[in-house]
Amino acid sequence: MTDQIYNLILQEEFGIDETISTVPINRMQPSSNISASSHEGIEEGLSKNNNVVDFNSSIESVSNINNIPAVASSIEMASKCNSLEDLRESVNNIENLSIKKTATNTVFADGNSESNIMFIGEAPGSEEDKQAIPFCGASGKLLDKSLSYIGLNREENFYITNTVFWRPPGNRRPTNEELAICRPFVEKHISLLKPKLIVLVGGIAVFSLLSEEKKITKVRGQYFKYSNDYLENDLNITSVFHPSYLLRQPSQKKLFWQDLLKIRAFLDEK
Ligand code: URA
Repeated sequence: MTDQIYNLILQEEFGIDETISTVPINRMQPSSNISASSHEGIEEGLSKNNNVVDFNSSIESVSNINNIPAVASSIEMASKCNSLEDLRESVNNIENLSIKKTATNTVFADGNSESNIMFIGEAPGSEEDKQAIPFCGASGKLLDKSLSYIGLNREENFYITNTVFWRPPGNRRPTNEELAICRPFVEKHISLLKPKLIVLVGGIAVFSLLSEEKKITKVRGQYFKYSNDYLENDLNITSVFHPSYLLRQPSQKKLFWQDLLKIRAFLDEK
């Protein structure tokens, strides 16, 4: 399929299906009702202080899991990292994690670490495991293509990583213990970048970093305050559907597109 045909099909699935108008429509610009709802979303999490959902709790909510020696060791290792290079090396030094033993490569991160937006997905798949690059398989291609429509590309202006750094065998969901062992490194990763906006990609990233109770179908597109033990100040966080879910459920791409427009509006406002 040529790139142009792929673009047309994808835009149609996003709901960008008006082909005739008396004036040109700039699809890169959020439409007025979308930016109004984006405002609501942003205000819900960011402006009305008494309504701010504070997710300082990613560590507290898993306090018993933090007593597991492997998790305590991750917390200690991550706290000593002062740069991305330290963090990468420290991740490589994690011991006794079975998904690390079965994986071909460590998949640390990709993109521009100086950019103001950080995407955090679930776990590497088979292509990512081969290439050691997050989101380089089919779902990553859909994500990159979609983000290009809101002016984001990884070489220039976004950064991307995952909640775990190794492919779980058979692409199974990472266990809570695997998530907990990797989480201190992800939290430190966030604190080293301090992006203007963190975007959690899919339900597992929401589970690991926001709240074990919140479901992606409920929180996607909403904006919250986020903190962790390595951060001095709160950061802004939101979430979107995982592109692999969109590959299975193309009808959800319309909601995904609305969330991307909100992200564009948020980045433009700040
Ligand atoms: N899915 C993810 O969540 N992360 C990847 O890196 C690839 C697929």
